[in-house]
Amino acid sequence: MLPEIFIIKLLDPLYKALMKVLVYHKIASKKQFEKQIHYLKNNYEIINPLLLEDYINNRIPLPENALMITFDDGDFSIYRNAYPILKAEKIPAIIFVITGLIGTNRPFWWDEIEYFIEGKEGRAKVWEVKKWSNTNREIFLKRLRKESNKQELEYRQLSLTELREMHDSGIVIANHSHTHPMFDQCSLEELENEIKISSNKLKKLNFISDAFAYPNGNFSRKSERTLKEAGMKLVFLFDHKINRGTINPFRISRLVVNDTTPIWKFKFILSGIHSRILPITKLIGKIYRKIKK
Ligand SMILES: [Zn+2]
Repeated sequence: MLPEIFIIKLLDPLYKALMKVLVYHKIASKKQFEKQIHYLKNNYEIINPLLLEDYINNRIPLPENALMITFDDGDFSIYRNAYPILKAEKIPAIIFVITGLIGTNRPFWWDEIEYFIEGKEGRAKVWEVKKWSNTNREIFLKRLRKESNKQELEYRQLSLTELREMHDSGIVIANHSHTHPMFDQCSLEELENEIKISSNKLKKLNFISDAFAYPNGNFSRKSERTLKEAGMKLVFLFDHKINRGTINPFRISRLVVNDTTPIWKFKFILSGIHSRILPITKLIGKIYRKIKK
């Protein structure tokens, strides 16, 4: 009798699917990013994000060495430093934007916390706030702005014209919620609002409204159900993993990289070994800190 695994492999062309999705945030170093793009272009089949839905739903086998490039938050530096390279090299990519920030001078809320509470304490606060209920997070931020004697933090976000320009040259603009709350800390009403407002805005602007990346990667059963009910088609995580086997369109894994990652480490992350070793090194660090105490 044939082993079960062999039958699955034979019947399911997607079984062997191995897809790597990278997630970037800010792009400060044009030079290093360009090096990474050249490496990717020479070693991978960089796929158009819009084709992914076809691959998954119509069970078309993915090309060997399939890779997708994504950016979260829609920082202005993507337009300034990444877009010129993507355009010149004709590389497809997807940018998940926070719809409430398009065309504004409002900062990301985690940058605000680190601006009002400086140094190590501010960084620790961001991590703490991410675990709070969404209502408490909002109350905290309002109080922080009001009680500080510092001026409010401002910097430019991507404008609609810049988003359009990128969209017109093949970059996919998609959904990263309206205000970037932690989806596992939201009430059902907050979830529905976040999805409705962001999707409507993207639809109105002729961008992609049904491909979504969880803010901070946080999700729950409730948020997954709400996204499904709202008609989302592709949902991306932030779990530092490679997609192996059949891809669940509501839990697409992504590898976390940034433009300053040197090529040797970049290759190490892409190999998948990094994601496997990381939990072990984290655990060792935790034990070490405990012993030190
Ligand atoms: Zn984000």
